[in-house]
Amino acid sequence: MTLNTNTPELRFALDVVRQAALLARRIRSEMAVEGIAKSDLSPVTVADFAGQAVAGRALEQAFPAETLVAEEKVDALKTDEGRPILDLLVGHLGADAETVCRWIDRGAAEPGRRFWTLDPIDGTKGYLRGDQYAVALALIEDGAVRLGVLGCPGLGADCRPAEGACGMVLAAVRGEGTWAAPLEGDGGFRRLQVSACADGKGARLMRSFEAGHTDAGLIEDVAATLGVEAAPVRMDSQAKYAVLAAGGGELLFRLLSPKRPDYRECIWDQAAGSIVLEEAGGRITDLAGRPLDFGTGRRLERNRGVCASNGALHEAALAALRQVGAVPAD
Ligand code: AMP
Ligand code: MG
Repeated sequence: MTLNTNTPELRFALDVVRQAALLARRIRSEMAVEGIAKSDLSPVTVADFAGQAVAGRALEQAFPAETLVAEEKVDALKTDEGRPILDLLVGHLGADAETVCRWIDRGAAEPGRRFWTLDPIDGTKGYLRGDQYAVALALIEDGAVRLGVLGCPGLGADCRPAEGACGMVLAAVRGEGTWAAPLEGDGGFRRLQVSACADGKGARLMRSFEAGHTDAGLIEDVAATLGVEAAPVRMDSQAKYAVLAAGGGELLFRLLSPKRPDYRECIWDQAAGSIVLEEAGGRITDLAGRPLDFGTGRRLERNRGVCASNGALHEAALAALRQVGAVPAD
């Protein structure tokens, strides 16, 4: 079996994610050289908007009638602080300011029955640190993810983090598996499969690098309950789902941060990553074991936190979450 990259939807998604990820990588290297400290132009801001503009432009060409729900708002570019960013975008995209703004503004649509959702730079803090980040694009229909593509410039050919990595693109289509190929070029997809590990003792657990995005102390308790021996691997962005899909880890928890107990996940932070994991044989639910419901607007209003696994360890993980009191009451 091979991945059919010739459907209009997958061609579009691969094209957008590849372009946005390569542009983000270039912007980071160029702006790091220039030194971001001397101005208030953050490379992440430029790359976020650039990625969203790339998606809006491609949508206008491929699916002019379709909806894009994306993270960035064009208003920020129309202020005094935003102007210099807009000037840079005009240079990167080779279009006038009005056109660039129109492309970005495509992402302001409200979610409907069928829509695309984009995080142009997921893991913004990782991007700035020189660590992991991802471009994430997914197609949602009737509250479920149909297709997802992740661009992960910091992953090597084995879908593990690596210095000077070639970067990878991961594509999943419902019922057709998860596939990975180098970010550059146009092919070489191989199918991914999660790890078969069914014993908590040997499991590898991944979590957010940013302590404020989770409850790191409680994750230690869940890990101890499961008998996990290795220390959690800290990584930014949905690149964690890529690692799980490729068998490089077994567990991932997004526990509610004590600082933000009411936090609801944004759809673009989970959509592409979730299908990439599921189609590789893994499972993803919220902390109470409920399936993720992508039909509740820009956030996962009916879900609390995330429990993701290789499948074999999922029920044990949910039981451990209950045991340590990590499942919110509502
Ligand atoms: P990660 O790199 O896995 O930590 O995830 C990055 C994403 O976490 C960002 O895109 C944010 O939207 C999201 N985020 C921000 N604050 C929180 C929070 N308090 N709890 C959970 N996720 C958060
Ligand atoms: Mg994000």
